[in-house]
Amino acid sequence: MSNPLFNIQYGLYVITTCDGGRDNGCICNTVVQVTAQPNRLSVALNKENYTTELIQRSGRFTVSIISEKADFELFKHFGFQSGRTVDKFANFTDCRRVSNGTLAVTRGTNTYLSVDVEQTIDLGTHILFIGIITEMETLSDAPSATYNFYQENIKPKPQAVGQTKEGKTIWRCAICGYEYEGEELPADFICPLCKHPASDFEKIIM
Ligand code: FE
Repeated sequence: MSNPLFNIQYGLYVITTCDGGRDNGCICNTVVQVTAQPNRLSVALNKENYTTELIQRSGRFTVSIISEKADFELFKHFGFQSGRTVDKFANFTDCRRVSNGTLAVTRGTNTYLSVDVEQTIDLGTHILFIGIITEMETLSDAPSATYNFYQENIKPKPQAVGQTKEGKTIWRCAICGYEYEGEELPADFICPLCKHPASDFEKIIM
């Protein structure tokens, strides 16, 4: 049986912000509409993400809802590199500047929702941002991608490997596919690509 937490269903989102002229974005699965009067959202973001730091300063963000038409490139582009070392919008044209000054992603997405932050709650590893939706638009009729859809249809299927030629064991990140080589995965290991913890790694056995 799988990890009980894997039975929670999620959507997938690009969260973008702009602070002092610096645009950045990351991928997350933690957007929830929490009230309807007014329309209000929450999103929890890892403090390691540069986007989190920029939202703390700018007080605004946009959620672009990832659809089933998204390709793996979109996940790699926004999810597997950091805005601290790469300008993710330098050569990225599938986006539109929206009224809160952030960039909405228009490729592989079906909706954008712009949010002004009202409250931030420090959750240790993450910051929970809660805010009011100030603008929203549907961009496509493609269904929203669930996390399971991503796992089954968007993420490339890994090749069956069990051990390297040298006989080392492989641990694979279930989120992004990153492979760690070694008999034991350190308990405090953090995936260098997607920042998920050791509990999201599976030992690959032939
Ligand atoms: Fe990963």
